[in-house]
Amino acid sequence: MGFLPDNFTCDVCGAPKREVNHWWNIDLNGEIARQKDNSLVGNIHSAFVLIPFDPAAARQASIITVCGQTCAHKVVDEYLSNMLVASK
Ligand SMILES: [Zn+2]
Repeated sequence: MGFLPDNFTCDVCGAPKREVNHWWNIDLNGEIARQKDNSLVGNIHSAFVLIPFDPAAARQASIITVCGQTCAHKVVDEYLSNMLVASK
């Protein structure tokens, strides 16, 4: 998400992307780690993959776009909380 025709926005705070921002993309669905046969690496059922901002990745609906460390940490916190709930 976070993709508009001409620019990108942060999926957490809604900030518009500018040239010099240190943005990130987060993949919670294994799209980036997926192998050619469409399986995930190893026995992974859930993955948290953080990469430097990549326009092609950011255009995928399942990829989260964030504007910096603060918003990335919010996604990390949510992911960890969900994993704790799921493991109970
Ligand atoms: Zn943000």
